[in-house]
Amino acid sequence: MKTYRIAVIPGDGIGKELAPEGMRVLDAAARAAGGFSLEYEIFPWGCDYYVQHGMMMPEDGLKTLSTFAAIYFGAVGYPELVPDDVSLHGLLIKLRLGFDQYVCLRPSTLLPGVKSPLRGVKPGDIDFVTVRENTEGEYAGAGGRMHPGQPSELAIETAVFTRAGCERVIRYAFELARSRPRRMLAHATKSNAQKHTLTFWDQIFDEVARDYPDVKTERVLVDAMAARFVLKPGSLDVVVASNLFGDILTDIGGAITGSLGLSASGNIDPERRYPSMFEPVHGSAPDIAGKGIANPIAMAWSGAMMLDFLGEKRAGALIEAAIRAVTAEGTTLTPDLGGTATTTQVTDALVAKVNGLA
Ligand code: ATP
Ligand code: MG
Repeated sequence: MKTYRIAVIPGDGIGKELAPEGMRVLDAAARAAGGFSLEYEIFPWGCDYYVQHGMMMPEDGLKTLSTFAAIYFGAVGYPELVPDDVSLHGLLIKLRLGFDQYVCLRPSTLLPGVKSPLRGVKPGDIDFVTVRENTEGEYAGAGGRMHPGQPSELAIETAVFTRAGCERVIRYAFELARSRPRRMLAHATKSNAQKHTLTFWDQIFDEVARDYPDVKTERVLVDAMAARFVLKPGSLDVVVASNLFGDILTDIGGAITGSLGLSASGNIDPERRYPSMFEPVHGSAPDIAGKGIANPIAMAWSGAMMLDFLGEKRAGALIEAAIRAVTAEGTTLTPDLGGTATTTQVTDALVAKVNGLA
């Protein structure tokens, strides 16, 4: 039997509560689907670790993780202990960059039984995926501040778009679009205003598109795309965007699908040179940490994406089906979805559905 070694980093806040719940769902799916098992190693890295050691993870952390099949990540950040920019850069961003996880994959799916804040949309109406560039662009960190305290004080932040960096993420998005029934890919740009980087992005998109004549493409200005997410989300299938644009757009994508507690993501190295990392989109939620009411669905769904990426499609699909069954039933939901259930009760329901569906 195949065994996948999974590095689990629960992190901070609700991440610590949700990682073990996610592992319960993963194990149930592995048992139900059969043919493989998961072996976990847990790494207690995060803000508590920082308080003890002055860093978010050990010096040789990347090397330690490099031999794992994948990383299952909870959430990072506890501003009472460590400033957010320090904790984020010291752990999550270090892993994304260190393992060149250049694709950030974020599905936006309206689940049955979940209410969208948009009027008149039904489950099934929203079902698209955003592919966000995850290593360069506007978040490359190129720039600096000058003339502090003077009237001429200024800050510069330069976006970095490399040919290789754009091409690889756009190609990934085309492959993804080709694998889906609708075969549609829209890209977010702002080349009318940003005449260096985004005209380059447009050009590379058009070049790559020539290899995919079977995929229907669309160029959409990012401001119009933001409106489109709200007004016509059903017209979207796959969206590809730069780091900053993708970040902003996927928050809208999360909002229209009901709760942050439902949004899953993968930070992926498609070439599989390094482990990819799967995590809920939400953060450590200090406001509800320790109360046992965090929604485990985003964590479980991220686990389903991980299984899918590892090639265990049936196990991943079982978790997704269990999630749909639990939200459709609507009797066991956490408070963010209007229910009164605890984290553990929702996990129990997911496990029961996985077992029942197998
Ligand atoms: P970060 O900067 O780490 O993203 P944040 O404060 O911006 O943190 P979250 O930690 O995601 O964002 O929390 C935003 C809001 O969403 C909070 O009110 C939180 O309670 C709620 N929330 C986040 N995740 C969940 C979840 N899994 N279940 C229920 N509510 C959640
Ligand atoms: Mg946040």
